[in-house]
Amino acid sequence: MNRWRDPRVDSQFFFQGYCRGTNSVLVSTSGGSGFIAAHVLDTLLERGHSVVTTVRSQEKAQKIQDAHPGIQKDRLDFAIVEDIAQPDAFDKAVISDPPFEAVIHTASPFHFNITDTKKDLLDPAINGTVGILRAIKKSTPSVKRVVITSSFAAIVSNGTAPTAVFSEAHWNPITEDEALLNPSNGYRASKTFAEKAAWEFVEKEKPNFTLATCNPPLVFGPVVHYLNSLDAINTSNKGFRDLVTGAAKDSCPPSGVHLWVDVRDVALAHVLAAEKPEAGGKRFFLVSSNFSYREVVEIISEAFPELREKLPSGDALKPGDYPAAGSFGFDNQRSKEVLGLTYRPLKETVLDTVKSLQTVLKQ
Ligand code: NDP
Repeated sequence: MNRWRDPRVDSQFFFQGYCRGTNSVLVSTSGGSGFIAAHVLDTLLERGHSVVTTVRSQEKAQKIQDAHPGIQKDRLDFAIVEDIAQPDAFDKAVISDPPFEAVIHTASPFHFNITDTKKDLLDPAINGTVGILRAIKKSTPSVKRVVITSSFAAIVSNGTAPTAVFSEAHWNPITEDEALLNPSNGYRASKTFAEKAAWEFVEKEKPNFTLATCNPPLVFGPVVHYLNSLDAINTSNKGFRDLVTGAAKDSCPPSGVHLWVDVRDVALAHVLAAEKPEAGGKRFFLVSSNFSYREVVEIISEAFPELREKLPSGDALKPGDYPAAGSFGFDNQRSKEVLGLTYRPLKETVLDTVKSLQTVLKQ
């Protein structure tokens, strides 16, 4: 198939899928239907790339296609990958004509509703990451850059001082035994082990591509209305959903790590990490600022008076406070210097997230 070439772009990518053609990215988001992946997909298209994205079913492919009516098959195409935990999951998806030049791998389970940590979290995260790298090395030597969505979970460690300052230099020291203690540990371990496995693969296998990883903390921002119901909302936006629906009226969501970033900035960071030669070989800790859900409630209350009666107040706000002992510091300098990223402020993200949830509520 001849792929469309955009004169503004001189490389081709694969997105959670794969970017094809000299001006396209094969984005391997084995989950173009995911919260972050959907924004990566749109950012790639906006920047002129042609994209093949992986999804788990034809139904999900159709929903994404329907939401992009003006975009032809030569710019947006799909590959079905039902389960990234399977060792050969990506073998066919990475093959394309013209061949992919970059791959962005975003898909990985991010939820705590599990029965078996290994099967539900560790296997898809680790096998998915190593599997896509192996498939690219075997069949698609044209790929020059692979970007993987890692996480602050691969940086932070349990038991560090409450005011520790984190950067790309830090690694979560979690062990295999600790991974099995509870679902939260399981998720953090899945991201840590998968990212480590990716760097080890590049070190040992010396493929044609260089690697970059994106490590965001909590990601907030507009949900993709054509893919979402409020019941099935992605994990990091659940606190916002509960505030908007009144489910958190008696107890504000706890803020967890108190570090956040907007999904649109995360998406742009992935695409820049695929485009920029100097991003190769680097991790990027993507953080806008500290936050607390009390601050989120105050912003919503001021901007959306009609939601005030659903919001927690008084003592019910306490779980949303910063901890008395302080909260983590962060160093996001590399993302600004190498990627040229600027970060949206909390107020803009809160307003846009609430508006997007109201759209879903009206559907
Ligand atoms: P979503 O739950 O919205 O997306 C996860 C994606 O992974 C979905 O597309 C899902 O497909 C896919 N997926 C999960 N398991 C499998 C599997 N076994 N086989 C095939 N596809 C699978 O979450 P996010 O968009 O928030 O997360 C995306 C990535 O970002 C993850 O790697 C997560 O760890 C990371 N991350 C997210 C943060 C956040 O705050 N949101 C923070 C830091 C990192 P389907 O929907 O079809 O099941």
